[in-house]
Amino acid sequence: RSNIRNMSIFKATQPIEVLSRRLGKKVSDIVKLDANENPYGPPPEVAVVLGTLQFANIYPDPDSGYLRAALAEILGVGSEYLVVGSGADELIRLIMSVMLDPGDKIVDCPPTFPRYEIEAALVGATVIKVPRMVDFSLNMPQVIEVTKKERPKCVFITCPNNPDGSMISDEDLSKLLNLPVMVVLDEAYIAFSGFKSRISWVKRYDNLIVLQTFSKSCGLAGLRVGYGAFPLSIVRYIWCAKLPYNVSVAAQAAALATLQNPIYVEDMRRSIVQERERMFGLLNEIPFLKPFPSYTNFILCEVSPGLEAKKLQEELEKMGVMIRHFNLSDLRGYLRITVGKPRDTNILLDCLRILH
Ligand code: PMP
Repeated sequence: RSNIRNMSIFKATQPIEVLSRRLGKKVSDIVKLDANENPYGPPPEVAVVLGTLQFANIYPDPDSGYLRAALAEILGVGSEYLVVGSGADELIRLIMSVMLDPGDKIVDCPPTFPRYEIEAALVGATVIKVPRMVDFSLNMPQVIEVTKKERPKCVFITCPNNPDGSMISDEDLSKLLNLPVMVVLDEAYIAFSGFKSRISWVKRYDNLIVLQTFSKSCGLAGLRVGYGAFPLSIVRYIWCAKLPYNVSVAAQAAALATLQNPIYVEDMRRSIVQERERMFGLLNEIPFLKPFPSYTNFILCEVSPGLEAKKLQEELEKMGVMIRHFNLSDLRGYLRITVGKPRDTNILLDCLRILH
């Protein structure tokens, strides 16, 4: 297909082992703050479950039935609304393949998670971009106008947003939901926000899909488990399109074990939020960086004019600190830094001070 032939390969991150070998450093000496992972990892129960894993020779439950039942209790939506995927990534792909025909339109609000744009292009849809404002808030009047005029099938909203960490208000979300469009609300980072998830809104709105993941607040990024709550009018099509055994035996067992230790997960969440605030204060003192307040487990920093974000990222990488750089639409340079453990922040800050 021509739209695939023309695509460049998007590599999300480089493996930590590759950098450790390149720098001749131990993996434990690399500070990995580039992919918004959780530095603490899942509760100890997960290691026990994986160590004694049974049924690796049997296909996993195609419905992730126990996991959906456990999630339903916690989330306040019936399990009939829920589908579990191999990460939220898989659910984004499923939404595109179920909702869109070639030539259909979606609205995307960059800068944001790039996967929506890539997956829409893969099914031959057109992406209408409504860029965010300079403070990264949504350009709501424009989103509404474009949605009314262009009649897209879906509007994608990340809340809190990646890469900047900003939120959408209840009022703005309600305005969007009153339009004839499917609103896909990606709540991958919602646990760090202190705000209530809108996942239970799917019971009220037939045009809302909410995505969440075990990758961030639960520390299970490597096992690939995400889930979505879908309107009942859509969910059966998601089941049709989903690969039968999309979530492995190990991933389902680990996610269930994680849910059984909510105190551990809450402690991790609290540590990360506390460290985010400390890291914000420290980054604010670096003369060539301007951090943006964040409701997530990462902080976006604007780089002073005259300094290249990519160069800074490369210099930090040489010192064993992995972060992301972006050149966003206004051509200013930005760094996105994941909140790690306090020791990670301290090493990062030492390196930034050396660069200064
Ligand atoms: N949505 C957003 C906004 C993300 O940043 C990410 C991960 N980078 C995902 C979804 C995908 O998460 P998962 O690991 O569950 O596929």
